[in-house]
Amino acid sequence: MRYRPGLAEQDRCTVAWMCPHFPEDMTPPAITTDGCSACIDLGQEWTELRFCQDCGLVGCCDESPGKHATAHFHEAGHPLIRSFEQGEGWWYCYVHGIAGDVEGAPPAPSRP
Ligand SMILES: [Zn+2]
Ligand SMILES: [Zn+2]
Ligand SMILES: [Zn+2]
Repeated sequence: MRYRPGLAEQDRCTVAWMCPHFPEDMTPPAITTDGCSACIDLGQEWTELRFCQDCGLVGCCDESPGKHATAHFHEAGHPLIRSFEQGEGWWYCYVHGIAGDVEGAPPAPSRP
């Protein structure tokens, strides 16, 4: 298990503490799309959007028909996502199944 200096005691059962995929550098990746590009190609609707912390790909959530964020994890093996919804910035690791906000993380970009 990983130790992040400066993490408050109450945050130590969160994704930043429990997940070895969690990056030293929490800077969000560059994001070039406003929506799930796989859904746009297919002409599908989505419910909510997530983005891949590794490469910036935007995918739709598991309540969306496409489940493209999860599909991207299976294809690319990038385990960490954040919410792309306005006012949200929580993290989730597919491998460890842990979600949560992270104190001190830079704000997540969000869809327009
Ligand atoms: Zn993890
Ligand atoms: Zn999608
Ligand atoms: Zn990715």
